[in-house]
Amino acid sequence: MSSPSRFAFSEWPPALSETQLEALTLYATTYALSHGLLYLPPVKPQPRVPNSAIHAPLSVFPSPFPLRLFLLARRLQSAYNILYARIAMDVEFLDKVMGSVEGVGKVDDFVGQLWTGWKNLRDEGIVQPLQLGLFRSDYLLHAGLNGEPLSLKQVEFNTISSSFGTLSQHTAALHRYLYATTSYYNVHPDMKPDDFPPNDTTAGLVEGLAAAHAAYNAKESKILFVVQAGERNVFDQRLLEYELLEKHSIHVIRQTFDELAASASIDSATQALVISGATEISTVYFRAGYTPTDYPTAAQYATRFLLERSRAIKCPSIALQLAGGKKVQQVLTQPGVLARFLTDAAQIAELRSSWMGMWGLDEAAGAQRARDMAERLVLKPQREGGGNNVYKEAIPAFLDALPPLERQAWIAMELIVPPEGTGNYLVRAGSEGAQSAVKAEVVSELGIFGWALFGGPDGGLKEKEVGWLVRTKGKDSNEGGVATGFSVLDSILLV
Ligand code: ADP
Ligand code: MG
Ligand code: MG
Repeated sequence: MSSPSRFAFSEWPPALSETQLEALTLYATTYALSHGLLYLPPVKPQPRVPNSAIHAPLSVFPSPFPLRLFLLARRLQSAYNILYARIAMDVEFLDKVMGSVEGVGKVDDFVGQLWTGWKNLRDEGIVQPLQLGLFRSDYLLHAGLNGEPLSLKQVEFNTISSSFGTLSQHTAALHRYLYATTSYYNVHPDMKPDDFPPNDTTAGLVEGLAAAHAAYNAKESKILFVVQAGERNVFDQRLLEYELLEKHSIHVIRQTFDELAASASIDSATQALVISGATEISTVYFRAGYTPTDYPTAAQYATRFLLERSRAIKCPSIALQLAGGKKVQQVLTQPGVLARFLTDAAQIAELRSSWMGMWGLDEAAGAQRARDMAERLVLKPQREGGGNNVYKEAIPAFLDALPPLERQAWIAMELIVPPEGTGNYLVRAGSEGAQSAVKAEVVSELGIFGWALFGGPDGGLKEKEVGWLVRTKGKDSNEGGVATGFSVLDSILLV
């Protein structure tokens, strides 16, 4: 497309007539419904056997993203895969940062519960040293305040339950289809097929799961997906399951913590994880367990620790889940810490260039600095899944109410400033069949997927960057969780 310096983000999306927009929306929603780009409808309780679905929220156009920064994000992924694998293997570091004696676990009950469970298992002796991570590193474009060139800045790094891999592949295909079938009515004549980058995330993520399964090496074993009751994002998970079966002949069992409380056991001779006394599990893939609400009672923690104790490979292990804490992300920015894990100076510099300023509220003057700079900050606790952060003008009152001891559980992060004035047409599934696309000013978040299999006695580490995701949110919303309803699935137009 046009050269990066000249792309006008504030002129996106191109204007469409009402007829064109309606036609594109029809093409988009029917493509989504035909290709499994779906959600379960928002009903409670979810029926045990679903019989209807709605399309996922979508953007009509892909969102512009500079090629140079897309390539940078993909290149960084290998470094991040290795970095987080090494953090997960660094017991001393994790104890210090996330543990219940010195670290965040002291003041954050959820982190403390996980860490204590892990510590107890370490004292017993870990029977499965191999660990699998299916990661997603999230970024925003940063325009800076003084007209600097756009840069790539990391929002966070996810080590558990990184979602939307399969749906993002379908969304990229959807935009390619809209272009192929309508040329977007030539409203933006510069668009070329090469501006729509390929996205094969499904095969890539499944390759990671299959690598763990192969490393476990037991013929009749299956992969266990640990899922949430009432989950609406089931198609994103099922598409991984179908790919595992079709391409790798690997079977999947899906169960919640509560189902596993009754069905899961450990073979006392081999330490194998066995479901219903019959099926051995090679790999446990968590699409649950990342939030305290997944552990309403001690029973769910007990089930988590039972899975962790077994010889099955965990994706992620508790150690790798703790490595994904925001506190770890912040501590990595401190002088010298990255050098504990990586040696290549150029690589270290490139990673650092993708970070915003961060500090702990428990540091000397950390809370005061957060108060002074509130308008340019977000505060984050050790939580996943959206909706947990405190932004800008809400920060001073939040700090007033936060007991000083709990400051250790929170980090301050400078806000990334995305390019102004970029928009898109956002399509949500209407309840009464009233289907319409709404034009809105938006912010787009890029996620890069990768996996790593590591921790074995030979010191080997396999890893790969495997694809990408774009989620686009209305500009006025601070957060962008697709599942929580603030944002839509999107893809990239390289510029
Ligand atoms: P979670 O693990 O709950 O997804 P995130 O760190 O991704 O937490 O924060 C949630 C959302 O908040 C992000 O998707 C992004 O929209 C917004 N956000 C987080 N950090 C920043 C930041 N430094 N600058 C701008 N927006 C941010
Ligand atoms: Mg996030
Ligand atoms: Mg997260």
